Amino acid sequence: MRTLKFGGTSLANAERFLHVANIIENKIKYEKVGIILSAPAKVTNNLVNIIKKTIKNDNTESSMHETKHIFLKILEQVNPLQNNFPYEKLKTIINNEFIELKKNICGINLLGQCPDNIYAKIICRGEILSVAIMNAILQARNHKITIINPVKTLLGIGTYLDSKIDIIESTKRIESMNIPKNHNILMSGFIAGNKKGELVVLGRNGSDYSAAILSSCLHADYCEIWTDVDGIYTCDPKQVPDAKLLTSISYQEAMELSYFGAKVLHPRTIEPIAKFNIPCLIKNTSKPDAKGTLICAQNKEKKHSVKGVTYLNDIAMFHIIGPGMKDMMKMIARVFSSISRDNIWIILITQSSSEHRISFCIPQKDVVRVEYILKNEFYLELKNRLLKPFNIIKKLSIVSIVSTNMKNKPHITASFFSALSYANINTLAVAQGSSENSISAVIKNSNVITAIRTVHQILFNSNQIIEVFLIGIGGIGSTLLQQFYRQKKWLKEKQIDLKICGIANSKTLLINMKGIKLKNWNSYFEKEKNFFTTTKIINAIKKHPLINPVIIDCTADTLLSYQYSHFISHGFHVVTANKKANTTDLTYYKKIRTAAIQFKKKFLYDTNIGAGLPVIDNLQNLLNSGDKLIHFRGILSGSLSFIFGQLEEGITLSQATENAKEIGFTEPNPRDDLSGIDVARKLLILAREVGYQIELKDIKIENLLPDTLQNIPDIKTFMRKLKELDSIFDIRVKKAKIEGKVLRFVGIINKTGQCEVKIDSVDKNDPLYNVKNGENVLAFYSKYYQPIPLVLRGYGAGNNVTAAGVFSDLLRTLPCKVGV
Ligand code: ADP
Ligand code: ASP
Ligand code: MG
Repeated sequence: MRTLKFGGTSLANAERFLHVANIIENKIKYEKVGIILSAPAKVTNNLVNIIKKTIKNDNTESSMHETKHIFLKILEQVNPLQNNFPYEKLKTIINNEFIELKKNICGINLLGQCPDNIYAKIICRGEILSVAIMNAILQARNHKITIINPVKTLLGIGTYLDSKIDIIESTKRIESMNIPKNHNILMSGFIAGNKKGELVVLGRNGSDYSAAILSSCLHADYCEIWTDVDGIYTCDPKQVPDAKLLTSISYQEAMELSYFGAKVLHPRTIEPIAKFNIPCLIKNTSKPDAKGTLICAQNKEKKHSVKGVTYLNDIAMFHIIGPGMKDMMKMIARVFSSISRDNIWIILITQSSSEHRISFCIPQKDVVRVEYILKNEFYLELKNRLLKPFNIIKKLSIVSIVSTNMKNKPHITASFFSALSYANINTLAVAQGSSENSISAVIKNSNVITAIRTVHQILFNSNQIIEVFLIGIGGIGSTLLQQFYRQKKWLKEKQIDLKICGIANSKTLLINMKGIKLKNWNSYFEKEKNFFTTTKIINAIKKHPLINPVIIDCTADTLLSYQYSHFISHGFHVVTANKKANTTDLTYYKKIRTAAIQFKKKFLYDTNIGAGLPVIDNLQNLLNSGDKLIHFRGILSGSLSFIFGQLEEGITLSQATENAKEIGFTEPNPRDDLSGIDVARKLLILAREVGYQIELKDIKIENLLPDTLQNIPDIKTFMRKLKELDSIFDIRVKKAKIEGKVLRFVGIINKTGQCEVKIDSVDKNDPLYNVKNGENVLAFYSKYYQPIPLVLRGYGAGNNVTAAGVFSDLLRTLPCKVGV
């Protein structure tokens, strides 16, 4: 025979009840079945909340109505679809249940508290009604059913709210029922009865345990747990979308996974089925044909040596420190025996005898009780200061990895901790399971999702991940997306996952936290209606924490540049091709850097100067290794490099500008290049980088344009008027030529830090002499590089090189350098 347990989501509505009935019928064709049912989704939580509200004297009318409505709706919708369905009879049962519930609630209200026996009775009503409805459906389909009343048959040992089952006694009781051979069995999960015959429950999520118990009592050949996911995954698939399905795991591994938080199974489920060697299948109710996960004695799956990453939330940690305690072992024994007398779950223990200190974790809900117990137990020691006052830290989580034989796989432990440090997560305590099948770290609740995602990423996927939000999809931004698309596979081979989670322009924001498909991002973007705001990006990662999120700014927007420090403080690295942030006032310039240090994030802007040329990175390396800039000369504008190169060949200024504009080397209005302001901005960034605390206004600029030309916004008029300057430039070019020189538009930082942007005539010996055609050159005369300067030279404009520069900055956000 086979037992089948259906969880809350599998029974959430009428359609699912009928679907579950079909699954059961399919099984009944081949063998006898025992069915265990949970309450429909939400019901147990609602009942718990009704009790809590009553104790607080809050109104429970609407919660009560909502809960009753879940059942009435199921009846109403099953009725027309199921012949012979006893609709009226069930309606009466439900009404009576809620009349009874109201009476209990009145009592709790009067008392101002809820005794555990009443609490247990109330929170399991959903299970009882599920069985009543399913029984009616199966009987209506002419199946022979015996209902097992768990209060009478399953002997619970423990408290009203958290009992274990005595399997031997329960088996005897079931056997004495003499259930006819041709009958199938139906039982409410979650419930048992104590020695006095009173109802007890098996702890939240306890229906899985009921299924394991019934399987053992009936000597089932298989136990099937039907739920809302395809089986057991390497991590909670609702939190880690790329969690991997395990086809099979051993009892030991399943036990460890569920103990440390894999909610798909109640932690007590495995023990009984392992004892009787009953294989257990975890199946998805929505996909009955999918294989699921098999739990058995021998794990056949060799693919993943680590089975899973799990987490437990809302944990509290007690530190007990006893500098005056002579016998630590005795003290430890007293701590744990006093707590365990009260049936409290001690999840994890760490001890340091040299420090006379013991730390342990318990569910946070039990803090008051444990504190009370320990204060009683150690009353005298506390009074005489042999023990320090207990230090209790709340709002913690435990993250664990489960793997067999961890002892022989030290790299797994190393990866676990390096993942936590990669995600910048502080570990408060560590414990290795005595079975050496698990290792756990205690961290803050607020870090838990990032922690499991990072640990999972590093253990099961690539070692490193980048999650990009790209703002600005003009020339550079869209080229960057093409480069991402082409390089994704290459990076994957180097253990780097590149995920594009957001793409935006000034109007639209396309977000997909699982990653936007780059092949046709444009078609998704065009259909997207979500209006762009930076807050939406920040909210997205609050809701769905990421491991290594990066904002890329490929706009020229000033307002956006003022958001960088805000982004950094919310956990993003910032990579920008936009010069605005680095050229506004020094206060903001410094604020971004302070935020980057405080939040351990990177702020990268190498394309601000020389596009793809590695200027800032090199400069920082030099300065970090003790070099000092003496002076600097450079051609920092691709368009002006091109225009001055053309002048040298005898082409007029207006024609040269026209040519530069045609091949896309200039700003939309070439006036912006010729004004020299763009070069001045780059020079300002360089000067600040080497430590000069200056503002843009401190830079002396030789404007190529007279005032009359400077304020012409219309491009055509400007280009026409530019001709007026041709003859003046012609004369200057010729004059320089006579001296064996050429004109170049140069940015200079002199020995005292004064900055200047001007037309300079340079001779053959100058590194700037041969630079034209849009190339940039940067000559650094420094303590280490003199008299011959360090020269960086190459194209300083163009979408491809600039996007590539942004791309290299992006890869610098990774903690490890990309390997070859
Ligand atoms: P049911 O109502 O069927 O008992 P539960 O909600 O109790 O279902 O358990 C199923 C849920 O367990 C899944 O929806 C999933 O979010 C969660 N879960 C946590 N860890 C894991 C894991 N490692 N594998 C599968 N599911 C997991
Ligand atoms: N309905 C109970 C709960 O929600 C038991 C279960 O679903 O397993 O905790
Ligand atoms: Mg469950």
